[in-house]
Amino acid sequence: MTLRFALLGDPVRHSISPAMHRAAFDVLGLDAEYVARRTAPDEVGPVMRSADLAGGNVTLPHKLRAARGLTRPSAAVRATGACNCWWRRADGELAGDNTDVGGLRIALTRLGFQPRGARVLLLGAGGAARAAVQAFLEGGVSSVEVLNRTTARARALRDRALAHATGADHPTDADRAADANRATDAGYAANADRAVDAVRVVAAPHPGAMYDLVLNSTSLGLSPADPLPLDLDRGADGVRFGAAFDMVYAAGGTAWTRHARALGIRAMGGLEMLVGQAALSLERWFPDRAAPFEAMREAAVAELAMRPGSGPAARSETPRQRRER
Ligand code: NAP
Repeated sequence: MTLRFALLGDPVRHSISPAMHRAAFDVLGLDAEYVARRTAPDEVGPVMRSADLAGGNVTLPHKLRAARGLTRPSAAVRATGACNCWWRRADGELAGDNTDVGGLRIALTRLGFQPRGARVLLLGAGGAARAAVQAFLEGGVSSVEVLNRTTARARALRDRALAHATGADHPTDADRAADANRATDAGYAANADRAVDAVRVVAAPHPGAMYDLVLNSTSLGLSPADPLPLDLDRGADGVRFGAAFDMVYAAGGTAWTRHARALGIRAMGGLEMLVGQAALSLERWFPDRAAPFEAMREAAVAELAMRPGSGPAARSETPRQRRER
């Protein structure tokens, strides 16, 4: 029987996810389908519960709503309040995870970023920033300084991390026991007490600071007319950056990753995270299979190059340029 998976969101027309998952199903010889389905808010719960689907992904603007519809949320879902991947278990329970967290971890590893003890500057405080904070705390960073246009939202992000670290959002002992069975969750538990003072809200980069990583989780860069999320050329205040990661992705790289590289800062765009979260989603649905990461990346790059505005330059990039996108 063909297993059916769907991406729920609005809009979903230009999503790269169907191409990545279809490529993976082909390589693995799985009898499975993946479709993008434009979904209204009140359809999310019913579609997730429908017997037609074995599982799927969730994108903007439904990740928070999807989290509330799960009967078996992972620790990452409880920590972030967001779900981007769900599946129906054999016992009928609706399980879900936030694989943006692991996807970001995979991408940052490829960038060469070592989280343990690192000082991080996080730009933005929306849904994607929640996944970033979780990934950083799991990795044992020494501090995450959150810089956001709306300070109240940055404070809310910090408070959420604090609530999770102190166990205020862990409903039962059974949930804690389940978390301990997963490597990432155990890693998080070991580092959770650090969260109490690791996440800080700032109004600007700290003068003279050396940040091991600056990460853009704002939506700046989605439009070519956007200003840079942060000018990394900080001559006057002496701030320096070891690496830059842009969650936004674009064929040929984002303006901000090009800006970073021009200053000699190692930089990577968000495509690698997108592929990472898709690969981890596939491994949640098929726990005995390893996701074919390279085939999924190739499919994502090809799909991105087909988008309006990507131009011939993007289609003739070298493999290294593609990885850095
Ligand atoms: P979101 O919840 O809507 O948050 C948007 C963030 O961008 C907020 O911090 C917002 O600041 C900031 N922002 C928006 N316009 C701004 C402006 N003009 N100036 C300064 N800051 C501005 O969105 P999200 O879900 O966090 O997603 C953010 C980005 O991450 C999107 O580009 C998304 O595509 C990307 N993303 C990528 C991946 C991946 O796999 N690569 C995964 C998830 C998300 P305020 O709080 O002040 O409004």
